[in-house]
Amino acid sequence: MRSHYCGQLNETLVDQQVTLCGWVHRRRDHGGVIFLDMRDRDGIAQVVVDPDTAEAFATADRARNEFVLRIQGRVRLRPEGTQNPNMPTGMIEVLAKDVEVLNTAATPPFQLDEHGKVGEEVRLKHRYIDLRRPEMIDKLRLRSRITHRVRAFLEDEGFLDIETPILTRATPEGARDYLVPSRTHAGSFFALPQSPQLFKQLLMVSGFDRYYQIAKCFRDEDLRADRQPEFTQIDLEASFVEEDDIMGIAESMIRSLFREVLDVELPEFPRMPYAEAMSRYGSDKPDLRIPLELVDVDDLMKNVDFKVFSGPANAEDGRVAALKVSGGAKLTRKEIDDYTKFVGIYGAKGLAWIKVNERAKGLEGLQSPIVKFMEDVIEELLDRTGAEDGDIIFFGADKARIVNEALGALRVKLGEDLELYTQEWAPLWVVDFPMFEDDGSARLQALHHPFTAPSCDVETLRTNPAVALSRAYDMVLNGTELGGGSIRIHDQAMQRAVLEVLGIDQAEADEKFGFLLEALKFGAPPHGGLAFGLDRLVMLMSGARTIREVIAFPKTQSAACLLTDAPGDVSQEQLKELSIRLRHKAKAEHTDE
Ligand code: ASP
Repeated sequence: MRSHYCGQLNETLVDQQVTLCGWVHRRRDHGGVIFLDMRDRDGIAQVVVDPDTAEAFATADRARNEFVLRIQGRVRLRPEGTQNPNMPTGMIEVLAKDVEVLNTAATPPFQLDEHGKVGEEVRLKHRYIDLRRPEMIDKLRLRSRITHRVRAFLEDEGFLDIETPILTRATPEGARDYLVPSRTHAGSFFALPQSPQLFKQLLMVSGFDRYYQIAKCFRDEDLRADRQPEFTQIDLEASFVEEDDIMGIAESMIRSLFREVLDVELPEFPRMPYAEAMSRYGSDKPDLRIPLELVDVDDLMKNVDFKVFSGPANAEDGRVAALKVSGGAKLTRKEIDDYTKFVGIYGAKGLAWIKVNERAKGLEGLQSPIVKFMEDVIEELLDRTGAEDGDIIFFGADKARIVNEALGALRVKLGEDLELYTQEWAPLWVVDFPMFEDDGSARLQALHHPFTAPSCDVETLRTNPAVALSRAYDMVLNGTELGGGSIRIHDQAMQRAVLEVLGIDQAEADEKFGFLLEALKFGAPPHGGLAFGLDRLVMLMSGARTIREVIAFPKTQSAACLLTDAPGDVSQEQLKELSIRLRHKAKAEHTDE
């Protein structure tokens, strides 16, 4: 139906006849001449309809925003003075000979260029209109370029694209499962995969050697922050590899993506042990663009006459840390109060601070509600943090977990608010993670997932699991975890030992993961892999603020689809077929249509 996309028109086509198909972006009536800005996925072109072409003119006169038109006409240079150098097609216009309405359009729920005036809910409900916006098209186009490059890179490296099931058994990655009732096996359920983890390992046992998949994953989490219940991973696995092999491939892939898609040469990827990341940045995904660091001061605070500090300084699971912010003495009372509220979100009970107005004046030169309690250690404190005139020092004192979370988040917020970034892209690898974490419950939890290999032998693992390290690695970019993976356990005895440490006894292990344990007996090669979060990668590369902006049809924070109104009710008949009776009576009656 069309000869060119609107956005493709330029001076080289002057005097050519073209046929455009698209939507009326804007219609202007200029004293007898009608201007139509025609839009399609490639851009916008200006069409002029003058009254000499009477039929075309009458049609254009009826056209309204978002009508679907087919336009035939001749490309010509715009008259001197009316050119628009800010627009790719701004030097030319199309003089219409024929205008055909392919479809009309009701008044849209929001004007495309006024999307900011309506809430995100309206945009999500009418996502097909929201996706007409050039910025949205650009983001999805970028996403498509990225997946195309990823496939090309991995295929060139000998990886095979193999699909794994969506209807499956639980694959634990630390979230709740989405369950699907089986009709043919009454009372039994499939789980949607939290990742293709176990299948990709089985493919290694089969000998495929290098696998990849751009895979949908499903995790029923409480949707804190920027998560989606279904999201996409670039998932890969390889056999006969060690950490350096997988990290090397993953790093080359990301490097080549940035080079080819954004024309950006990423800097070195330093490797940082988990313990160091927590101690210096309070986070296992530190944003290294921000030149602020946490400094331990427990030793200084053990004997101060201030319980808020001395308590955690002496407690085994406590931490007292300082965060010096250069030039921060200019923060107002109100700003400090706001930061105090901010750290409260992470459980911090307060935010102590010292402003260094004039160091040479000793105590006189400091301004702080707490300095009176620590006169004896103040010089050492100022030296250790490297404080100079005009700086502020913030403190966190609590359980180490709270201090890390609160000061870690404060560091990122200060970096953002005070625009402290020193570079545009700061990648790194975080390595040497603990195998397990103690979340306060009766059992240890896997920090990654239970199939990650420890860096010690079975005996050492059993004797002191709390200090065991894993062969896992995470890639972090600008404070976002882009991907993570590990060398896996390929030995049945080790896999059983890890499951035992996690409190999963032999019977339960066989029930849940028998197929994997069994497969490990039949010649499983050493293997490892990694998965990238595609949505987050595209978000970072496109500069989007949330992953919802780079997913065509995302769900809301409460895991619902406003467009289709899913999840939705099902009929009594369907429930019966699935042998399901709802406990909630009101709900049951409601579905009884
Ligand atoms: N399966 C892991 C995840 O989804 C990634 C990996 O270890 O490859 O987080």
